Amino acid sequence: MATAPIALLELDFPALESLMESWGEPPYRALQIWEWLYVHLATDFEQMTNLPRSLRARLAAETTIGVPQPVDTLRSADGETLKALLRMADGETVEAVLMHYERRYTACLSTQIGCPVGCVFCATGQMGFRRNLSAGEIVAQALHFARILRAEGKRLSNIVLMGMGEPLLNYEASLATIRRLAHPQGFNLGQRHITLSTVGIVPAIERLAQEKLPITLAISLHAATDALRDRLVPINRRYGLDALFEACHRYVRETGRRVSFEWVLIGGVNDTPEQAQALCARLVGLLAHVNLIPLNPTPGYKEQPSPPAAVDRFTAVLKKHRISHTLRLRRGVDIQAGCGQLRQRYSELVNK
Ligand code: SAH
Ligand code: SF4
Repeated sequence: MATAPIALLELDFPALESLMESWGEPPYRALQIWEWLYVHLATDFEQMTNLPRSLRARLAAETTIGVPQPVDTLRSADGETLKALLRMADGETVEAVLMHYERRYTACLSTQIGCPVGCVFCATGQMGFRRNLSAGEIVAQALHFARILRAEGKRLSNIVLMGMGEPLLNYEASLATIRRLAHPQGFNLGQRHITLSTVGIVPAIERLAQEKLPITLAISLHAATDALRDRLVPINRRYGLDALFEACHRYVRETGRRVSFEWVLIGGVNDTPEQAQALCARLVGLLAHVNLIPLNPTPGYKEQPSPPAAVDRFTAVLKKHRISHTLRLRRGVDIQAGCGQLRQRYSELVNK
């Protein structure tokens, strides 16, 4: 029986070196292949012209590069956001988004298909959990956009693990992705240009702090009292706000990095001055930044984004307490750029 091909994007550099050694190849072959994958963004072994023909043939027979197939691609009306629904080898699809803002091109990558956390307002949460993505499948999303940008003479500058799924419930693959994309002889993206967004899996935040990576940690907070957060983000019942903030303080102590807090503004739910006050109280003495994001309405949740007057009242409280914050633009609303929304729409279409 033929064995399954080796997915090259699943290998870190030492693993690729071992593979070449086991094939009796000289050690420098690993670096050549690594550069084809991560510097030249090759999609075909025939492009790897500095490898002997016999090695290219063996690679083609026994390995795959793992180029995901775009099932659907949408560009926002302003042209600044591109969203791809990518099909993986087993037929499952994941969303990845490319955003252009000033001089940055940021790819938002999915780490799971669906998500087991089930935040009430989130399209991914509403679809339930299907499976984890492998490191190679997450890396492939970044390479997909890097190839598109390369064709236009541009470069991917930032990565956010903020697409479908909870990266800290797929810890090994998420960390392998960060290390892979930051590899200096390969994709070479500075870790400072990588953000990991989590709903707040406390033991995993503590583990991440010990890795002492210079990445940005973003916490999807959305509420500053346990009573409200229990309702919006069910995992809060397991890891409540006190434990979460203790972990954030430890993260800042261990890494020296500022923590970002994401707050989706939901009209009449978490946009009150009381919640803003409670948020400020939680942030006392913490190196932090707050990102306010208007809710993207989803079919499974009846609430609407906060009206401008409520946003103003909320930000006024943050200003008074000198809490650093940004009000995010609504990007790509016309292409369902909210996490999980394109896949949700697509499965509605194909299931009709
Ligand atoms: N699971 C991780 C990362 C993926 S979610 C996390 O929760 O942080 C990425 C971000 O999108 C989170 O901040 C999440 O709260 C936000 N989000 C989810 N659904 C949204 C919606 N309908 N409108 C606006 N933001 C949403
Ligand atoms: Fe999962 Fe994040 Fe969506 Fe919550 S917001 S359901 S943690 S993907």
